[in-house]
Amino acid sequence: MPGTELRRADETAEANASRATARGPQAVSESKTVVSNAFTIDVEDYYHVSALASAIPRDTWNERESRVSASTDRLLAMLDEKRIKGTFFVLGWVADRVPQLAKRIASLGHEVACHGYSHELIYKQTPRVFAEETRRSKALLEDLIGMPVIGYRAASFSITPRSQWALDTLIEQGFLYDSSIFPVRHDRYGMPGAARAPGYVHAPSGGRIAEFPMSTAAFGPFHIPVSGGGYFRLLPYWFTRAGLRSINEQEGLPFTFYLHPWEIDSEQPRVKTGFVSRFRHYTNLAKCEGRLRQLLVDFRFTTMRNVLRARGLLSS
Ligand SMILES: [Zn+2]
Repeated sequence: MPGTELRRADETAEANASRATARGPQAVSESKTVVSNAFTIDVEDYYHVSALASAIPRDTWNERESRVSASTDRLLAMLDEKRIKGTFFVLGWVADRVPQLAKRIASLGHEVACHGYSHELIYKQTPRVFAEETRRSKALLEDLIGMPVIGYRAASFSITPRSQWALDTLIEQGFLYDSSIFPVRHDRYGMPGAARAPGYVHAPSGGRIAEFPMSTAAFGPFHIPVSGGGYFRLLPYWFTRAGLRSINEQEGLPFTFYLHPWEIDSEQPRVKTGFVSRFRHYTNLAKCEGRLRQLLVDFRFTTMRNVLRARGLLSS
């Protein structure tokens, strides 16, 4: 049974991780961790970002310079250099505007997954609108790449306690995994108390789907988000690395790293918006690429699909 073999492979990796920890902190800090983590990119342009939504009306998106291809190509080149495959959650709107990009990502052997269509927060949508645009985005991506799309990540992690119905829609539409639940408290997203490890989650109708939650590191009683995006840019890299190592080595769990192409684009047009959004969006853009290169050296990565398969959570 392939699932059994995969689970065994995963157990071996976890056993290796425990041995690495047993060698002591010195040995661990000098070597790459042995747990494979999910490297993910949410493919969207700077003007799609929820934090800037009030400053960039949707009806101006078409007039704005598209910068997503150039930044994504830089990320693809970086991954190619390190021989790492990742998962790219592509926004349907981007796939419509620059169809070659999803094709290029798939042709390089990366996983293409779905980031919805319009980047609207799910809890602001009706179930009918959510279903329509998710179907549209999945079909568009599958047409472009000629392969099934099985993974989903919501705009701004917006599957929260009030939008869990979205999990039913994902199951109905044939998605095999979701990566939208962030087990933290935040003003725009979060499901405090949700499981921190990949596993199955139950949708309100009783069906189940594999979930790779956004990763947090346990520092005593606190669970700190350390695995990408603004957290990766705002926190010092040594802190990020310590948090991610503790997930791999102390807990024996994989984490998911996530980033957006605009986070390595320090030349992007600046938008006038409130202080908090400005701080979250623009801080350390110029440092991000260098940090990312270091991260790719310090940790082992593959696609989200591969990590879930290795844990026996996906059979295909
Ligand atoms: Zn997004």
